[in-house]
Amino acid sequence: MERKTRQATDGKTLQYNTIKARLYPTPAQAELFEKTFGCCRYIWNQMLSDEQRFYAETGAHFIPTPAKYKTNAPFLKEVDNQALIQEHNRLSQAFRAFFKNPETFGHPNFKRKKTDRDSFTACNHDFESGPTIYLTKDGIRMTKAGIVRAKFPRRPQAWWKLKRITVEKTRSGKYYCCILYECQVKPPEPVRPAPETTIGLKYSMPHFYVADDGTMADPPRWLERSQEKLAKLQRKLSRMQAGSKNYQETVQKYRRLHEHIANQRNDFIHKESRRIANAWDAVCMRADALDEMAQRVRQGNVLGSGYGMFRERLRYKLARQGKQLILVDRYEPTTRTCSACGFVEEAVSYERRTWVCPDCGAVHHREVNAAKNIKARGLAQYFQSEERESA
Ligand SMILES: [Zn+2]
Repeated sequence: MERKTRQATDGKTLQYNTIKARLYPTPAQAELFEKTFGCCRYIWNQMLSDEQRFYAETGAHFIPTPAKYKTNAPFLKEVDNQALIQEHNRLSQAFRAFFKNPETFGHPNFKRKKTDRDSFTACNHDFESGPTIYLTKDGIRMTKAGIVRAKFPRRPQAWWKLKRITVEKTRSGKYYCCILYECQVKPPEPVRPAPETTIGLKYSMPHFYVADDGTMADPPRWLERSQEKLAKLQRKLSRMQAGSKNYQETVQKYRRLHEHIANQRNDFIHKESRRIANAWDAVCMRADALDEMAQRVRQGNVLGSGYGMFRERLRYKLARQGKQLILVDRYEPTTRTCSACGFVEEAVSYERRTWVCPDCGAVHHREVNAAKNIKARGLAQYFQSEERESA
C-alpha cells in the first residue's frame, strides 16, 4: 500500500492507497491481457509517430485520440477502450513533462515488446448500474475480462474509492494488478521533532543504513544467499547453448529468482521503513541523488539500489503521521566532521571503520559519527526554518 497525499478542497486530505494483488486469469482472460498489452504498445507508437509527423509538418504539438485508429486497426475494438485512453493520457503527460523540463524527462520513446513492460491501466467509472471495476470475494471484475481470480494481501476500507487498475505481467509470466484507491482523511496533527525522538540515518554499503545511536539495519542473510544463487545461474547461462531447451528452462529459472529477490528486497524495505516511521518523530537523512543510488545496482549491490526507495517510503509513512523527513544537503561534510567537537578533518578514509579526532581525541565509528552529524544538521535546519516562519 502506498503513498501520496494531496489537499482536498474541504480541508480534508486526499490520500492514495495502492493494493497489489496476484491475478490468476483463465487462458481466455490471459489471451485478452496479451492482446491488450499489444494494443497499448501499438496505439502508443501510432500516436507518437503521428505526433512527430504533425510536428514536423506544422511545428505544432498534437496527439490524435485512440478512436481515430480503430477503422484501420479493427483489432483495437477487441480490448478495453479505457486502456487505450490511458495510453493517450500517458503520452500527453509524457510530452507535457518533456516540454516543461526536457533535461530531466527526455522525449517520449517508442515502445518495444522486448524492452517495455507488459502492462495496461484502466480507470473505474461509476455508472448508475454500478462501477465498471470492483472487487469480489476472491477476484476483481474488469470491463472486458469479467471476473479475474485474484489473491489480495489485504482488503480496502469500505470508504475507499477505486480509481484505476494497472494489470502487468512479469518477465517470468506471472500476472499482478495494482489497484489505486482515493480516500479522504483528516490531516494528521503536525509532530514537532525533539532530539530524543529524532533519528539520523546514514547510507551504508554493508549494513544498508547506520543510525546515530549505533543501530544498523543489517539486511537478512537470505538476500545475500539469493544473490549468490543468481550469480551462479548467470555464469551457467553464459556457458550454455543459446536457444536450447535447457537454456530456455534456465532463463525461466533465472527470471523467477530475480523476481523473488526483488520481492524480498521490497518486503525488507517496506518493513524497515514502517518500523522507523512508527518509532520516531523525525528522520534525518542525506539528500543523496537518486540516480547515483541507482548506479549502485550496477556495482552489484542489490539493496543499495533500494535506498532511494527506502527514503521515499519513509517520507510518506512519516507524513501520514504528521512527521518529518528532513534532508541534509549532500555536500555537507558529515563524514569528516567530528560529532563531539565540530572539528572538520581533511579526509577520512572509507576503508577504516574508525577514526580519531585530532582536536578532541574522540574515537569515532566512521558511519555512526556521520549519522550523528546528519541528525544534528537536520535538526538545526528544521529549527532554523521554524524560526524564519514565526518571524
Ligand atoms: Zn573532535
